[in-house]
Amino acid sequence: MDHFDYRNGVLHAEDVPLPEIAATVGTPVYVYSAATFRRHYQLFDEALAGMDHLICYAMKANGNLAVLKLMNDLGAGVDVVSGGEYAKARAAGVPGERIVFSGVGKTRDEMRAALEGGIRQFNVESEPELLALGEVAVAMGLRAPMALRVNPDVDARTHAKIATGKSENKFGIPISRAREVYARAAALPGIEVVGVDVHIGSQLTDLAPFEAAFEKLADLTRALRADGHVISRLDLGGGLGIPYDQGNSMPPQPHDYGEVVRRTVGDLGCEIEIEPGRLIAGNAGILLSRVIWLKHGEGRDFLIVDAAMNDLVRPAMYEAYHDIVPVVQPAPGAARAPVDVVGPVCETGDTFVRGCEMPVLGSDDLIAFRSAGAYGAVMASEYNMRPLVPEVMVSGDQFAVIRARPSFDEMINRDKVPEWL
Ligand SMILES: *Cc1c(COP(=O)(O)O)cnc(C)c1O
Repeated sequence: MDHFDYRNGVLHAEDVPLPEIAATVGTPVYVYSAATFRRHYQLFDEALAGMDHLICYAMKANGNLAVLKLMNDLGAGVDVVSGGEYAKARAAGVPGERIVFSGVGKTRDEMRAALEGGIRQFNVESEPELLALGEVAVAMGLRAPMALRVNPDVDARTHAKIATGKSENKFGIPISRAREVYARAAALPGIEVVGVDVHIGSQLTDLAPFEAAFEKLADLTRALRADGHVISRLDLGGGLGIPYDQGNSMPPQPHDYGEVVRRTVGDLGCEIEIEPGRLIAGNAGILLSRVIWLKHGEGRDFLIVDAAMNDLVRPAMYEAYHDIVPVVQPAPGAARAPVDVVGPVCETGDTFVRGCEMPVLGSDDLIAFRSAGAYGAVMASEYNMRPLVPEVMVSGDQFAVIRARPSFDEMINRDKVPEWL
């Protein structure tokens, strides 16, 4: 559920009509609803009620400073995957003891920075990384809190580019080798074993892969304890999917996910960590765009809009679908026709949807791409010298620009021409 609804025929973000934001900030622009972010956090919090838990928001889904502040104020932790994300989480005021550091290729510099600034745990994904982390920590006179990310060899049944829990994926340590690697970890003076971690993929629309992975994790936890390790935390990763096509698909709710957690690992006495990104941010944002032209092609019509693949790359990258809706609701019975909705970028991949039955729109009409709050703005680029897409946060009847659109001068002056050229 989100807070983007029609009121008197006009799409609003909470109490703010979207045409007002378009008029003030221009288009394209991402618009987020603070209430929706809060609601999604609360759904997870309620789903895990009764179990000791920490929700570590995966900031790679949407890492705007204002979003991080909002999550931090709720008491959320943060899951980071780079030194840059770590620095930004700290800049947003997130304390180190609520930051989990994930990622398959952490550098020694990144490890050092996190150990220096404070860190809840590193989720380690390989033996070379384990050894390096141990060395870095010893050199600093510290012990690095560590969970091993295990790869449970479970098919997440999601898009191949975002499935991470099969043995052929680059992520984690094969669960069959985990006991051996934990034994190595326990022998390292710079390492403090605190838990076990798993993350099997993103946009999961079925609970069965979670259940299979968490059961394997529970078995592993019992085995590791029998081996003498202290396992006090289980990090279950993120991955719960969201509905991208309103009405047609209904992924499981956080409540049902919580039941799976309870059933599989609830009796182990561990603190549960989860790392949701998409479910928190996805439906908390839309991409607001304006129609440039309706172009009649041979046998098909193209709705050319001012948002493009550089602003929202998911359709081009993952064949993802986003509902596209007119901001002003058409009169009942108004004409509809199939169109390809495309951006102005010089790539055929710059197509958001093909042959989509939509109300007939024309120049200057506003449209909204729904469910664009996660993996939208964070993946944006300035390809074709298009300014990095701005972001707006709405709360009730207020809104603010939380990242401004750069001017052409700012963009041009970032480049430097060497004197000798
Ligand atoms: C991407 C990622 C997440 C978040 O996944 P969502 O599908 O957005 O919930 C969590 N943990 C790790 C390690 C990730 O790489």
